[in-house]
Amino acid sequence: MSVAKARIIEDIKRAIAELGGAGLQLLEAAPGPEADPIAALPTLRCDLGAEVEVLVCWGEQYPVSPPLVMLTDRSDTTVSLPLRWDLSTPADERLLLALREHFIPPGPYVRGFADLSGRVLTRDRAVAEALALRQVFSGQPELGGIVEDAVFSRSSGLVDGGLSRKRVLVVGLGSGGSYVTNVLCRAGVGEFVLVDGDSVEPENLARTTYEAADIGQSKAVALKGQLHRIRPAARVSALDHEIQSLGVDSLFALVKSVDLVLALTDDPHAQSVLNRIAYGAGTAAIFASLYAKAEGGEVVLSIPAQTPCYACSTGYRREQLRETGLSVDRRPDYGTSRLVGESALACDIQHLDSVTIKLSLGMLSDDSDVSAARFVRGAIDRRFTYFVCGMVPDFYFFPALFRYGSDDEIQGQYAYQSAWLSPTVNPECPICGTSPVDPRSTPIARGPAIPRG
Ligand SMILES: [Zn+2]
Repeated sequence: MSVAKARIIEDIKRAIAELGGAGLQLLEAAPGPEADPIAALPTLRCDLGAEVEVLVCWGEQYPVSPPLVMLTDRSDTTVSLPLRWDLSTPADERLLLALREHFIPPGPYVRGFADLSGRVLTRDRAVAEALALRQVFSGQPELGGIVEDAVFSRSSGLVDGGLSRKRVLVVGLGSGGSYVTNVLCRAGVGEFVLVDGDSVEPENLARTTYEAADIGQSKAVALKGQLHRIRPAARVSALDHEIQSLGVDSLFALVKSVDLVLALTDDPHAQSVLNRIAYGAGTAAIFASLYAKAEGGEVVLSIPAQTPCYACSTGYRREQLRETGLSVDRRPDYGTSRLVGESALACDIQHLDSVTIKLSLGMLSDDSDVSAARFVRGAIDRRFTYFVCGMVPDFYFFPALFRYGSDDEIQGQYAYQSAWLSPTVNPECPICGTSPVDPRSTPIARGPAIPRG
């Protein structure tokens, strides 16, 4: 027996003992000049569990040169494993160390995808590609599966497991959308369709859930990766363009296919399109917008055939302001997506986001007895579908509401404050009025740009 052969047999025995394999066999080299060149090499065969067979061929330079390790698993494809062959390690440990990068105990070994720490996150190849995970063989339970089993353990009675079957469309993935989506993923919502045409900029890091490594990447794609890192089993699609570019029929079909639309853009045109399409498609929607500097904000819940649409709700708010003579900030409202050029604190933005999240969880729970569902039902029963809050003292109509400075001033009032309004349907409204117009008959292309105030 050659020195190389004696050494590799010893090294494989050691690897089998360490990794938990069995059935070491020396296969005879096939005789004859026409033999397959691989078959003509001396080969060792062993099993690492019932599903993985390993063949090892070597040359006389072993252990200076690495052997050729070929692996066949139950998919019946044979691949050559790239071995990291570190000549600075002791010669009798090189093979084991090289194999341990691919085989992570315990067996029996099946294909999976692991992060740098060697935990098997998923066996789903598409998720693995999105997260740039490395292929390994291991009998470890998937971390993603463990997370799915545990995800509702701390929310019993508050939401229900039906969330895992629900599909949510999120449009606008800035400071509001990224945070709301992140929290809904942690809460166990099963599927997300993420839409935003923007890329992550360095200044986004202060108020979103993105990280430095995401800079320059599409927000939709970056957030998809983040949701997979939180819950590898979450189903996520990313559309990295504006909602209007989908075309009216595709957008209608998409909106109809989801259980809830979250309209979290800073673009009034996009919000208006989503209102029209969601109401027409019979899909519930939540619209969130911040006022300048996130000193205040509003969340509108729109449920077809049950509540006024978003346009009627915001029209009602403007009318109330006019009638009461109250003045809120006259500058345009800014959505939660970007707050372009505006200073605002993430904590103020997330105060509003929390309302969006809780309404979403209630809307997506199947069991009407869980707390989040009762919260939403109670609001709807009171016709409270328009939430307004102030993050600074003396904001908006709150001084008037709480009669600041008067004899009957309500004591103890300061920010944060909130109130629920009860908007009404305008019978003439083409979306929620008495004669609704099919939203597919109206183009959704963007009009000429309106300068920001
Ligand atoms: Zn309406």
